[in-house]
Amino acid sequence: MKLAILSDIHANLEALTACLAHARRHGADAWAFTGDLVGYGADPHACLGIVRDLAAQGAIVLRGNHDDAALGGLWPDMNPVSREAAVWTRSRLGEAERDFLAALPYVVARKDLLFVHASAAQPENWEYIVGPAAAARCLAATEAKIVFGGHVHHPRLYFSARGDVSAFVPRPGIAVPLSAGRRWLALAGSVGQPRDGNPAASYLLFDGVSRRLTFYRVAYDWLTAAAKIRAAGLPNTLAQRLEHGL
Ligand code: ZN
Repeated sequence: MKLAILSDIHANLEALTACLAHARRHGADAWAFTGDLVGYGADPHACLGIVRDLAAQGAIVLRGNHDDAALGGLWPDMNPVSREAAVWTRSRLGEAERDFLAALPYVVARKDLLFVHASAAQPENWEYIVGPAAAARCLAATEAKIVFGGHVHHPRLYFSARGDVSAFVPRPGIAVPLSAGRRWLALAGSVGQPRDGNPAASYLLFDGVSRRLTFYRVAYDWLTAAAKIRAAGLPNTLAQRLEHGL
């Protein structure tokens, strides 16, 4: 089993299709989408169509805070750009798409793997895992050996050995063996709105037999994705973020 983990697609069709094609070329035969399918980008309908088709074939699909927002679940301190994008997205969703989003779970467990958008510690609170302390809270909330998530839009790998949690920034394309003696938290980065200074889409490929995890960055047509955001009348800053990866 080669499992592709894609997070924070944010309605970016060009990034999603590029990552899916890249993962298929690298042997992916199973899929997990760890939330924020929509919000920010101009293609919620097309992206949801692709994800719903894969869900019908067994893909894991989780709820993110921007999926909630597109259903009307705006949070009090939401910034104006996110709010505007959520309201715009909501206006574009059909009933079946709303029903699909509304039925998504916060957490899915598969054997010793756990999938969540933000943190396994109170997933509905959308905590950002910004360092080892938050990663430790996440790992303490589950017995799973490996947790996969997103939400922070920065690819990171945390590991716990004898209670100490450490982080490192993985190098794209270099497989990391997830040894059984440690517990792991892998944050996939963002497919559709990277924020670490690299505009290339980010996703993970996990080999369930060898237990090796590879972080990938995939160049895609972000100029087209940004142009669609401007053409849709969404905030210009959302287009600029794709062009700069920030
Ligand atoms: Zn997100």
